[in-house]
Amino acid sequence: MDKQPVLAFIGAGNMARAIIGGLISNGYPANKIWASEPDAERLSDLKVQGLQTTTDNNQAVMAADAVILAVKPQVLKPVTEAMKDAVQAKQPVIISVAAGILSTSIDRWLGGNTAIVRCMPNTPALVGTGASGLYANSQVSDEQRSAAETILKATGITLWVDEESQLDAVTAVSGSGPAYYFLVMESMIQAGKKLGLSEEVATKLTLQTALGAAQMASSSDVDPAELRRRVTSPNGTTEQAIKTFMDEGLPATFEKALQACNDRSEELA
Ligand code: NAP
Repeated sequence: MDKQPVLAFIGAGNMARAIIGGLISNGYPANKIWASEPDAERLSDLKVQGLQTTTDNNQAVMAADAVILAVKPQVLKPVTEAMKDAVQAKQPVIISVAAGILSTSIDRWLGGNTAIVRCMPNTPALVGTGASGLYANSQVSDEQRSAAETILKATGITLWVDEESQLDAVTAVSGSGPAYYFLVMESMIQAGKKLGLSEEVATKLTLQTALGAAQMASSSDVDPAELRRRVTSPNGTTEQAIKTFMDEGLPATFEKALQACNDRSEELA
């Protein structure tokens, strides 16, 4: 595979555009990227950026070293079945971002013996701070693994898991994780308002605090538990809040919530 493989995005919606945007801003040559969508009109802005565009998925597959499946999970079966002959002829690595569809199903729909990387991205990919869990089946070569990593790194960080079933846990932590933080923000804003702050002040303070805490935790060489201890003085104000969270069983609630998410992800696969 070329150092900069030719990529084909099947489906050019939100997730594909997030990855394409990241690749282009990282200097990936636009003319090495194909985007395929049923509606040519919706590809015009990508064409202007220098991408190769088509409404024929098979044309894109035949040109590609790596095919990124970025359609909704519910249409993945007919979309891949219609690409089967082109995939068998060209043998590109298949990278699926579709939530909850097993690599074994994709392999079967594509005719078998396909190199497949399945990944679980999350919505902050849309702003370049995503986290993706990646799993490669046994057909994937080292070169194809590194191509998949380059592609997904365009939207944030990537982490490999050894077992495909671990993608359910990835879903529970990072895939669905942004919503948990949004809920925490929502709850803090409401609580701040109850304490007498205006909506604007409560919102700005909450969001900046979330950003600051995330940046501190990401750049620190100690873990979040230690960071928390360091800002919790005995008999201080923070201690009162933390004690309340602990008394109300917050860690156990998180454990239950992530387990429920993991179980639902298993059920859907
Ligand atoms: P999206 O915005 O709806 O994009 C999918 C695109 O595929 C649409 O433009 C759709 O066109 C097009 N499409 C439909 N049928 C097609 C076909 N036969 N051939 C080629 N293109 C076709 O969806 P998305 O949010 O980007 O999600 C894409 C995948 O990413 C999903 O499988 C999802 O599970 C995964 N994902 C997304 C996120 C996220 O944050 N968005 C996070 C994790 C995983 P029409 O609109 O005309 O149907």
